[in-house]
Amino acid sequence: MRKVLLVTGGSRGIGAAVCELAAQNGWAVAVNYTRDAEAAQAVVARIQARGGEALAIQADVADEAQVMRLFETLDQQLGPLQGLVNNAGVVDAPAQLADMSWARWKRMFDINVLGSFACAREAIRRMSTRRGGRGGSIVNLSSAAARLGSPGHYLDYAAAKGAIDVFTLGLAKEVAAEGIRVNAVRPGLIDTDIHASGGLPDRVRDLAHQVPMGRGGAPEEVAQAVVWLLSDAASYTTMSLLDVSGGR
Ligand code: NAP
Repeated sequence: MRKVLLVTGGSRGIGAAVCELAAQNGWAVAVNYTRDAEAAQAVVARIQARGGEALAIQADVADEAQVMRLFETLDQQLGPLQGLVNNAGVVDAPAQLADMSWARWKRMFDINVLGSFACAREAIRRMSTRRGGRGGSIVNLSSAAARLGSPGHYLDYAAAKGAIDVFTLGLAKEVAAEGIRVNAVRPGLIDTDIHASGGLPDRVRDLAHQVPMGRGGAPEEVAQAVVWLLSDAASYTTMSLLDVSGGR
């Protein structure tokens, strides 16, 4: 049977790689994005060109009303949900805590944490076998930063990802008997635009020497882990925090 997946922040980077690999594995994919409709449509077009099914849906995951609309659109246009990848995430410019603003912290937690909470809530309402759903799988994008703490760079981002780890552990137990598995993937240094968005376009190259494997990772390498966790091949895997970080 056809399975429906929502990937938040699916228009580029890791999210886009997840959308494309999931579609190759038979998922019908909702590609969420905030700003870049053209990039999201390009992901949809690549999926459709290979015979897959995909739909781009604009919504800011940090805005509850937009999340509700995102799920309503998904219900109407793709049908019952069975997978969610909470991938949308942001960093900010390197700074010490003493120099950070309240507005920065709020954005960091609104998008990285509350956005994931809201999307998981709406997904569970649809997927839970206790609520008439068919079960499903949730994969949260955490980060190696949750282990490393990111001092002097983005401690606020690392703390938000630490919250995602705890959220994953608790939610996995909470919904295990409702047919829903919940796991997290913790990427290390992955070659995407997120680093430039924080003002460090060369971050992966500059820090590659800290990675035991000696290189940064590709979004496609993270997508392999995410799509496996979504799949029935991971049917007994829940509450795991899977590092995809080259040993860092
Ligand atoms: P990216 O290239 O910057 O892409 C971020 C995606 O999230 C874009 O599709 C963007 O859409 C979307 N997005 C941003 N804010 C959003 C919001 N409020 N609502 C909905 N979508 C939003 O990021 P990435 O490197 O692929 O990272 C993906 C995830 O992996 C993030 O959670 C990140 O923290 C995590 N991660 C990344 C790395 C790494 O080294 N790259 C390492 C560890 C963890 P628009 O372009 O339309 O705004």
